[in-house]
Amino acid sequence: MNIIMMGAQGTGKGTVAGILSEKTGWPQISTGDIFRKNLEEKTELGIEAGKYMNAGNLVPDEITVPMVANRLNEEDAKAGFILDGFPRTIAQAEKLDEILKEKNKKIDMVINLTTPREETIERILTRRVCSNQECKATYNLVMHPPKVEGVCDKCGAELVQRKDDSSRESINKRLEIYDTQTAPLVEYYEKKGVLRTEEVSTKVNRLGNDVADDVLRDIKGE
Ligand code: AMP
Repeated sequence: MNIIMMGAQGTGKGTVAGILSEKTGWPQISTGDIFRKNLEEKTELGIEAGKYMNAGNLVPDEITVPMVANRLNEEDAKAGFILDGFPRTIAQAEKLDEILKEKNKKIDMVINLTTPREETIERILTRRVCSNQECKATYNLVMHPPKVEGVCDKCGAELVQRKDDSSRESINKRLEIYDTQTAPLVEYYEKKGVLRTEEVSTKVNRLGNDVADDVLRDIKGE
């Protein structure tokens, strides 16, 4: 199955995508993670992308779209994939449709996570990620802290705060881009009949793992 995770920063897209990927075997393809890995390894792509990322801006489509197209060509994405962080604009969604059409494929489900804005900002500020790019586990200092402070439960590597999560300015910029450029995708996919909107909030006592459980149950037809 081909799935897209949608939702503003801090809604838990990565958490849901990670659980779904683990349980189905379909790869989680996170454009942000691919960029960060390249940045850490100081590849040409990473250095170029980094110029936009740290300021909270979108990396240009000339870089992003071919990168995703190449990743979707890999063997492990043949049976299904979970896109996390792509597409982020209508133009990217249209490009994705073209890429998939050539392969006789389509998007089967778009999971749109919604969370009250004050809650997402709090979650971004308290988010910590594993510094080991092969692990990438995500924690939250309040809701989902690691067992040992500053250390990843899964692999023992150091937990760090993403550079773009540490400044209010960058967070606001990213949320503004989400509202103006990414949110219109909700209507785009609603018209295609593949949108599934899920509220994720402590207010309704529903978090990413609950959403993932429900989606998995539906995928398996239980
Ligand atoms: P994320 O981890 O999804 O929050 O992405 C981190 C950063 O990577 C974003 O703020 C952008 O600078 C860049 N990025 C990730 N995905 C995309 C995309 N689909 N288009 C353009 N830039 C992206």
